[in-house]
Amino acid sequence: MTSSQTVIKLHNTKTRSKQVFTPIDAQNVRMYVCGPTVYDRAHLGNARPVVVFDILNRLLRHVYGETHVTYARNFTDVDDKINTRAAESGRDISEITEETITWFLQDMAALGAKDPDLMPRATQYISQMVAMIGDLINKGHAYAAEGHVLFSVESYKEYGALSGRSVDDMIAGARVEVAPYKRNPMDFVLWKPSSDDLPGWESPWGRGRPGWHIECSAMAHDLLGQSFDIHGGGNDLMFPHHENEIAQSCCAHPDGTFAKVWMHNEMLQVEGKKMSKSLGNFFTVRDLLDKGVPGEVIRFVFLSTHYGKPMDWTEKKAGEAKATLLKWYRMVDNAEDETVPQAMIDALADDLNTAKALTELHSYASKGDSAALSGAMRFLGLLGDRLPDWAAKPSVDLSYFENMLAAAREKAMETKDFSGVDDLKKTFMQAGVEVRMSKDGVELLPAAGFDMTKLEALK
Ligand code: AMP
Ligand code: ZN
Repeated sequence: MTSSQTVIKLHNTKTRSKQVFTPIDAQNVRMYVCGPTVYDRAHLGNARPVVVFDILNRLLRHVYGETHVTYARNFTDVDDKINTRAAESGRDISEITEETITWFLQDMAALGAKDPDLMPRATQYISQMVAMIGDLINKGHAYAAEGHVLFSVESYKEYGALSGRSVDDMIAGARVEVAPYKRNPMDFVLWKPSSDDLPGWESPWGRGRPGWHIECSAMAHDLLGQSFDIHGGGNDLMFPHHENEIAQSCCAHPDGTFAKVWMHNEMLQVEGKKMSKSLGNFFTVRDLLDKGVPGEVIRFVFLSTHYGKPMDWTEKKAGEAKATLLKWYRMVDNAEDETVPQAMIDALADDLNTAKALTELHSYASKGDSAALSGAMRFLGLLGDRLPDWAAKPSVDLSYFENMLAAAREKAMETKDFSGVDDLKKTFMQAGVEVRMSKDGVELLPAAGFDMTKLEALK
């Protein structure tokens, strides 16, 4: 099913403006997102781009059709941080990367993120990287020196256009590594030599391993072609990583455009501060899940801030999200049918305005429109095949209290004095019980803050 009435607008970092998104080929919309370096559990910040681009993936599939979108996200499984972790722990590199990839996919699934269609690993694309590096040397954009191959930034006059910096600004502002084999301090490594104890592959420049940036250029080209639609990642990657990807790809494939639209999510903070190991506010997604914060709650909190703004993770927000979700799950549990409301799609189509989309959901809930709420929650990845365990009705038996309320109502019908019924309802609500009364009967449901002891006092 496609929804042709939806116009998607996206903020493009490259043009610094929000533009109508027109795919190169509506039959095959292509998106590449930079994935994690796999040596440790994903921290909460790493999950932000995953959730952001998962929403975009869902939206693109809704608009262009399930089979007309290709979403690729890589795993960086060759990197000096991985080598260091292996040396410190005495474990095999492949054992560490395999384990971390499994963890990553489990943790992201717990946040409701669907796996991308393609999840290439850098080590599977070494030959494509070597070929691309050779091509860049032949075209005069790269040079070999002392077992290294470097990209010559002066050979690409657009270098710096994405982040809006000149090469001179970069040299002044960046901590660039000055090395004797570099012609210009901004030149960056495409290939470097590996000693025998480090991962390495044979190449025309000796045994070595790739620099970080070349993998995304090689994999995006191999999987999506020389021109594709969207490239995403956190804004910490804009420079140098994305700038370098553009330079490599556009110089190797001058007939292509590489990515048409560049999208960057802002960073995640914790209680107003940057998340960092030294501030002691660093935690992984798994830490939160293990503490009992449900994945749906984490996802809801993420969605409540636009991806282009810094997002603050707070316990208060998590608590509020949980209460809202619990209320919504109770409603959708009774939904008989389901629709995907266009107003919510329109909010997402406006540069992924997830905060506005959630406002729509609040309005469906307050109108009692359980079909729209259910469809919207499913679309946003907040609802699966069944209610999450934490939101399923607890197996407490409230029938004694339901009978008590039903009897009070019956009596009130005769006496026309409803004060007893009102008092009971108030007591139930104070005990965290949701009261549903209709002509068919009385239903009591444990809700946020449910406290059995307050009920027992009525017996
Ligand atoms: P890394 O493994 O550090 O290369 O990061 C993987 C992805 O997580 C990249 O897209 C980063 O931009 C993103 N990322 C890292 N830290 C944060 C953060 N604090 N907030 C949002 N995104 C982040
Ligand atoms: Zn990348």
